[in-house]
Amino acid sequence: MIIGVPKEIKNNENRVALTPAGAAEFRKNGHKVYVQSTAGQGSGFEDSEYEAVGATILGTIEEVYGIAEMIVKVKEPIASEYGLIKENQLLFTYFHFASSEELTHAMLKSNAVCLAYETVERPDRSLPLLVPMSEVAGRMAIQEGAKYLEKPMGGRGILLGGVAGVKPANVLVLGGGIVGAQSAKMAAGLGANVTIVDINLNRLRYLEDILPANVDTVMSNEFNIRDLVKNADLIVGAVLIPGAKAPHLVTRDMLKLMKKGTVLVDVAVDQGGCIETCRPTTHENPIYVIDGIVHYCVANMPGAVPYTSTLALTNATLPYAIQLADKGWQKACSQNEDLKKGLNVVNGKVVYKAVADAFGLAF
Ligand code: NAD
Repeated sequence: MIIGVPKEIKNNENRVALTPAGAAEFRKNGHKVYVQSTAGQGSGFEDSEYEAVGATILGTIEEVYGIAEMIVKVKEPIASEYGLIKENQLLFTYFHFASSEELTHAMLKSNAVCLAYETVERPDRSLPLLVPMSEVAGRMAIQEGAKYLEKPMGGRGILLGGVAGVKPANVLVLGGGIVGAQSAKMAAGLGANVTIVDINLNRLRYLEDILPANVDTVMSNEFNIRDLVKNADLIVGAVLIPGAKAPHLVTRDMLKLMKKGTVLVDVAVDQGGCIETCRPTTHENPIYVIDGIVHYCVANMPGAVPYTSTLALTNATLPYAIQLADKGWQKACSQNEDLKKGLNVVNGKVVYKAVADAFGLAF
């Protein structure tokens, strides 16, 4: 198969969908790989590294879309790419169709085959191509939180781990899923006192077993959260109710209970946030302050660490992409239920129910 890797053109997107190691895997299986010049640069991969494993570098995005049977990308196509997509071309990338009617109609019109990373699903209902980005964001939440706790950054001026003779900081993690578990692990590793809350008792039992002794697990309810926010120095929002807006576990009035300079990192901002006063921010302007409480609510946190994010993402996507290239999408999807769940739009038809429902389209 002919694989095309365009350079990401969404604002501030430095990830790339294929590393030189991934290109080598495709070549080993007899596929041709075309990479747009400088596509890997933002993640630290030079054109020469792709060429060294047998990929061909093309100068323009038009050439990549023009030649490829399968396009592998990171973010959904934007308007300037719509016209480049060909009938029957296979697109393997994040789409998040339900949040864009315009994109959905553009892809229907293109007659392409759109396989979305975010809906590839394992039998246990986990989403293997979303997990790596949650892992990155969960770990980053503590790094960012620690940074904004510093006085010059607007925080309380407290070191997460304290030092000998001085108590460490208190970190409260709301939600003990992928993001929450990674946050708790990082904060605990730095020596903070960590409390993690979740509504799933089995999950709390598991976390209690695997996390170190400086992590307490507490049932999530308003009474407990209202009490915990009073002593927290850093609060991480990591709640998810699949397909729904995040519940506001930290309400506006709770800010008054917190110590001035407390930092809130709401990772769940992409689902509306689990902190009521959260609104999406960017890496250029990541924080704002309300009632003396620092809010960090960057909606695409992994974008700031493209090297790690690219490797983490491609570790997860490559085995699926290889199957698609080896077998073609029809055979690969008929033999692999995970991949089949990724199909969202096929030759002018929506084939994923939630997307059809979102826009009242035929399914
Ligand atoms: P997950 O499904 O693994 O975990 C969510 C957890 O929230 C579950 O354990 C669930 O039991 C718990 N939960 C649900 N309701 C709760 C409540 N009322 N109180 C406490 N816990 C509750 O999800 P995840 O992969 O950890 O993702 C968490 C959020 O982070 C999602 O919104 C995801 O989209 C977002 N995310 C954001 C970024 C970013 O850059 N901002 C990056 C990756 C993920």
